[in-house]
Amino acid sequence: MDALEAIRDKGLRLTPQRRLVYAALAEHAGHATADQLCSAISLKVPGFQRTTVYRTLDLLVELGLARRVQLGHASAYEAVRDGSELHQHLVCEVCGSTTDIWVPQLLDGVRTATSQIGFELDQVELVGHGRCRACARQLA
Ligand SMILES: [Zn+2]
Ligand SMILES: [Zn+2]
Repeated sequence: MDALEAIRDKGLRLTPQRRLVYAALAEHAGHATADQLCSAISLKVPGFQRTTVYRTLDLLVELGLARRVQLGHASAYEAVRDGSELHQHLVCEVCGSTTDIWVPQLLDGVRTATSQIGFELDQVELVGHGRCRACARQLA
């Protein structure tokens, strides 16, 4: 289902502001902080309310249209695409970049372990912290 259709489907008003925030997120390659999205949107719509961006991001996460990645002190967001809920994240402590990794075995292991104790699992959030290849090279 189209993401904007999904918003409509949940009975929520598809306000132009919500459309704009979702479009900015979908256009952003990789992971965007709320601040980055605010800057991108204010280029198109000067004076756009920051609180609207924050509130809409919360809503998109709630609807399963966006995913929040916890980066320690800050959060980044990404639009959910087909199968993208299966990836996990690596965060570089030096440059702050976020890298996607696919580790299906990890998810299988967690599913097996949780079902053994009768836990109903919705999702797994794994965030690995360290240094990206470029930063690790520079520090070596
Ligand atoms: Zn780095
Ligand atoms: Zn990601």
